[in-house]
Amino acid sequence: MTRLADLAEAEALDAADPLRGFRARFALPEGVVYLDGNSLGAASPAVFDELRRAAEEEWGQGLIRSWNIAGWFDLPLQLGDRIGRLVGAAAGQTVVADTTSINIYKALHAALALRPDRSVIVAEAGSFPTDLYMAEGVVSTRPGMELRLEGRDAPIIEDLIDEDTAVVLVNHVNYKSGALRDMEALTARAHRAGALVVWDLCHSAGALPVELDRCGADFAVGCTYKYLNGGPGAPAFVYAAHRHHDGMAQPLSGWWGHARPFAFETGFAGAEGIRRFQCGTQPVLSLRALKAALDLWDEVDMEALRQKSIALTDLFIALVEQKCGRHGVALETPRQPQRRGSQVSFAHENAYAVMQALISRGVIGDFRAPATLRFGFAPLYVGYADVWRAAAALEEILDTGAWRDPRFAVRAAVT
Ligand SMILES: *Cc1c(COP(=O)(O)O)cnc(C)c1O
Repeated sequence: MTRLADLAEAEALDAADPLRGFRARFALPEGVVYLDGNSLGAASPAVFDELRRAAEEEWGQGLIRSWNIAGWFDLPLQLGDRIGRLVGAAAGQTVVADTTSINIYKALHAALALRPDRSVIVAEAGSFPTDLYMAEGVVSTRPGMELRLEGRDAPIIEDLIDEDTAVVLVNHVNYKSGALRDMEALTARAHRAGALVVWDLCHSAGALPVELDRCGADFAVGCTYKYLNGGPGAPAFVYAAHRHHDGMAQPLSGWWGHARPFAFETGFAGAEGIRRFQCGTQPVLSLRALKAALDLWDEVDMEALRQKSIALTDLFIALVEQKCGRHGVALETPRQPQRRGSQVSFAHENAYAVMQALISRGVIGDFRAPATLRFGFAPLYVGYADVWRAAAALEEILDTGAWRDPRFAVRAAVT
């Protein structure tokens, strides 16, 4: 990526951007540079229209009839297949349900049930914490299980996978550093040892092309409220490869995962295929918001998305290092584009206050403890001029010491 001389050059890149048309379809506030789509994706007016229709017409007028007439019941599978296209999963293997945390629990148990003679779960100490907390929960229900962690029990995950390993739970893109794992290689390594892999796609679904089927993945989970823009608390998704469907079990055996939920039978009989991963009644209004968000994703060429993501992140790294390097910001994200997702993180000892100062200037990224400035680049609505403005604002804050204002040290509950 060439270094830019000024904002006008960045604006010229925006004018030539093949994905430029998508930005107008998001409801971003005037003057905001939004670099937190990796935590909560931006909203689009199409989503608001869909929500209004679902609430006023289908719920308000259709009432209970809408479960059939408006297709509410089938939404989890329909939307699952549409997400499947974005993550390289053929139809019938992905369902939208529950939260990522809950889906991790279900997927880990399903994997363990497929490897009953093995007693080890391998994960990463640097994982998004809920993955580890859920793995601990799974271990607590199964006496004799062991949790091995990369970064605690060995420096690299491959060294922890052996013939006792039932399942490897791994983040495709690390939430903090943005480092991207090689899905094909790690899956093959686990399979050689007879283990299964659960991929957490929270920071890759909608951020880059993913090829679950081609890489031979076993299970996957992911968020829809980050890059996919499904809205706050939007339900998550879970994928299980076809070859595991026969006899596949998950422990949260609620009625929505039953083969005949409206037969009201006394005992549980799991539905065929991925439907079995559902538990109870799903949040229809949130599913409808996600449906409208996915309408937009249906039009996206994932290769073009990836190219722009790499160009944006390359440019941001270059600009920040050039403008702010002397102020002690240190890149935490892999410099090689093929080894990162769609985010850039910098360490700075006053990262919390620096981020608050940036947010006060309309450049919204986030802070991750203990000292990371994290910036997400959602290529559908972030442009090159945004990158320029964000780097310039960071330079100004560090040059002037504006972040020292005491109000920027006050910590809120959600960072
Ligand atoms: C955001 C995120 C989650 C969130 O889990 P929820 O149950 O939806 O709160 C899980 N894992 C990773 C890697 C994440 O980035």
